[in-house]
Amino acid sequence: MLETTIAGSLPKPSWLAEPRVLWAPWRLDGEMLAEGKRDATLLALKVQEDAGIDIVSDGEQSRQHFVHGFVEGIEGIDFDKRVRIGIRNNRYEAMVPTVTGELRRKRSIHGAEALIARTRTSRRLKFTLPGPMTIVDTVADAHYGDRRAMAMAFAELLNEEARELAAIGVDVIQFDEPAFNVYLDEVVEWGVDTLHRAAEGLGCTTAVHICYGYGIPANIEWKGSLGSEWRQYEAIFPALAASRIDQVSVECINSRVPIELLGLLAGKDVLVGAIDVASDKIETADEVAAVIERAARHVAPRHLFPCTNCGMAPLDRTLAAQKLASLAAGAALARKRLG
Ligand code: ZN
Repeated sequence: MLETTIAGSLPKPSWLAEPRVLWAPWRLDGEMLAEGKRDATLLALKVQEDAGIDIVSDGEQSRQHFVHGFVEGIEGIDFDKRVRIGIRNNRYEAMVPTVTGELRRKRSIHGAEALIARTRTSRRLKFTLPGPMTIVDTVADAHYGDRRAMAMAFAELLNEEARELAAIGVDVIQFDEPAFNVYLDEVVEWGVDTLHRAAEGLGCTTAVHICYGYGIPANIEWKGSLGSEWRQYEAIFPALAASRIDQVSVECINSRVPIELLGLLAGKDVLVGAIDVASDKIETADEVAAVIERAARHVAPRHLFPCTNCGMAPLDRTLAAQKLASLAAGAALARKRLG
C-alpha cells in the first residue's frame, strides 16, 4: 500500500548538462555523451533507491526534453526547420521542429536507455513517453493540417516504441500529457482515443501524467491566473475513469486542485502529487502524509501511489534527492496512520 514513484525526470549531473534549466544543453558530445548518459542513468536509479522510492525511472537522463527526445528519432520531422510557436494554448513560446511529411519511426528510440535502466535495478521500472496530444502541441505542422490525425499518427509510433519497452521488461509505461489540462474539449473528443492507440496491447501497467507544468515562470504566472479553484481535472477525469489507462498521475500539493476531484477517477490508480517541483522548500514527512491522507478520503489507499507533482529536471540535484527522501518518509508515515 502507498508505494512511491516519481513523475519521471530528475536533475542531470552538471558534468552532463547545464543544471537548473529546461532544454539544458549537453556538456559532452559523441561517445563521451553516450557514456555520460549511461552513467547518469545509474546515478538516477541509485538516488531513487537510496531515497526509498518503490517504482523508479531512468530520470530521463538521456533526453534533452521530454517531448523532443522521442520526436528526434522520427522520420518526417525536420529539425532544420525550427520555428517559434506559442504552445499550451500560447502560454509560452518555444522553438520547435516542423512535421514536413508522413511520420515514420526509423528505429528504436529509447530501447537502449530502457534496457540499461532495466538491467541495473531490481525495482519496478517506469518509463515515460510524451503523449500524442502533447507532442502535437510541441511541433509545427506543415503536412497533416489536422491535429487529431497527426496525434493518431504519433500514437501509432508511440505504440510501436512502447511495445518494445514492455518487451524489455518495463513495468509501467507512462504517457505525459500536460496538454490534457489545456485542451479540455479535445481530450474528450479525441485525446483519450489517441492515448488508447498509444497504449494498445502493451501487457504492462499504463499511466498518464497530467499536471500544471514544470515550475518555470510562464507556468507559475499561468497558475496565478486560474482562480481560487483549479477545476480542469473535473472536465477530463470522467473520460479517463472510463478509459483503459490504469493509472493517472496528478498534481496536488500546493496546488488549488480541489482534492475531492480525485473521486472522479473511480477504479483507477491515482499517483498523487505530494512533492512540489516548483518550490525549493523541502516538504516535511508530515506535509507529505497530510496530502496522502486527504487523497485517501476520495481514493482507496490501495489505489494511491505517492508521487511528485511533475518532473524534477529543473531542480537542484541535492534538493531533489532530499525531496525524494521526504516523499518516502511521508508515505511511510501515512501508511502507519491509515493502518
Ligand atoms: Zn508534469
